[in-house]
Amino acid sequence: MSAAQFFPWQVEVAQQWLAQRERFAHAWLVHGLAGIGKREFVFAAAAALMCESPANGLACGQCLACGWVAKGNHPDLKRIRPETLALEEGAEQDEDEGSESAPVAEVTGSSKRAPSKDIRVEQIRSLAPWFNNATHRSGFRVALIYPAEALTHISGNALLKVLEEPPPATIFLLVADAPDRLLPTLLSRCRRLPLATPSAEIAQAWLAEQKIINAAAWLAASGGAPVLAKKMAETQPEPCPEWLSTFATSLEKGSGMNVGQLADTISKEPASLWIELLQRLVIDMNLKAHGLEVRYFPMLQKSLTVLCARLAVAQLSELADWLNQQRRVAGHTLNGKLFAHAVLQRIAAACQLSSAPAR
Ligand SMILES: [Zn+2]
Repeated sequence: MSAAQFFPWQVEVAQQWLAQRERFAHAWLVHGLAGIGKREFVFAAAAALMCESPANGLACGQCLACGWVAKGNHPDLKRIRPETLALEEGAEQDEDEGSESAPVAEVTGSSKRAPSKDIRVEQIRSLAPWFNNATHRSGFRVALIYPAEALTHISGNALLKVLEEPPPATIFLLVADAPDRLLPTLLSRCRRLPLATPSAEIAQAWLAEQKIINAAAWLAASGGAPVLAKKMAETQPEPCPEWLSTFATSLEKGSGMNVGQLADTISKEPASLWIELLQRLVIDMNLKAHGLEVRYFPMLQKSLTVLCARLAVAQLSELADWLNQQRRVAGHTLNGKLFAHAVLQRIAAACQLSSAPAR
C-alpha cells in the first residue's frame, strides 16, 4: 500500500467527505461490501488529511507529508491491524513499513507465538504516548483500524475508552465489512461513512485498465467487488473453480457424480471457503428460479436453469438455510472430508440426484 490514491469510484464521495475536514468527526466507521477497496480508501483519506497542500481535498502527492505516507513512515499515521494482516501487507511490499511493522517482529519474533488474528489490547494501549506527541506542522494524527471486526471485546473496550475522551487533533478511521458484528457502544461513538459498491460498468472498466482478462466473469465471481475480483484473477486459475463447474454439470445431468472425489478435492481448502461458493451457487439458483439474472456464476447459466426448474422455491430456501447453518459449524468439524461429503450429498439429494436421504 504505497500509493495513497482513491479508486476512481471513490473520488467523488471522498472529495465531498473531506471537504468538511475543518469540522471533521474524530471517529468514523467506513463500511461496505468486502473487496470494494475500503482499506485503500482510508489510507488515501489519511494521506489527504495529512497533506500540506491538498488539491480539491485530495493529497497532492508532492509534499513532505505525502512523501512520508508513500514510504509508510509518517509519524502521525498509525495502522492498527492484526499481526497476520500486517505480515501479509509487509510480504506484499518489500519496502520498509516503518515503525508500525516493528512491533510485529518484536512480539512474534521473541516469544515465538503464532501471529495474532485479532487486534490486541496492547496495540490500543501502546497508542497512549503517541497521542501526546506534537503532530507535524500541527496537522492531524490519523489512526487506521482495520478490520474493526478483529477488535476483541477487550481491545474494543480499550478503544471505546479512548474515543470517549478523544485525544486532540486525532482522527480514527475504522473499517468494517459487517458493522453489526462490532460492539454497539463502539458503533455509537463513530460517525458512519457507507461506501457504495461501484456499478458493474465502472468496475469492469477499471478491471480492464488493470489488464484483467475476462473481467466480467471475475467481477461476477467476486460478487461485484472489483478489488477482490482483481485479487482473485491474480491468484486463481478460473473465476469458477473447476470442482464447482464439475459439480454443477453432474447435478444437471443427474449422473456420473463422484461425490467422494469432489469431497476429496474441496476438503483440502478451508471449509468456510468452499461452503461460501456452494452458498453462492444456491443463491444463483434462487435468482434464476425467480426469473432474475444470476449473480456469481454466469458461466454455469445452463446448469442453473435446468436445476432451478427441478427444485421448488421452498426447497431452495431450505437448502440455503441449511448451508448457512453448516457454515457456522464449518470451523469445528473433526473430519473435513466427511463433512465435505455430507454437504455435497445433501445438495445432490435436494437436486434429486442421489437416493441418499436428505438430512
Ligand atoms: Zn501533499
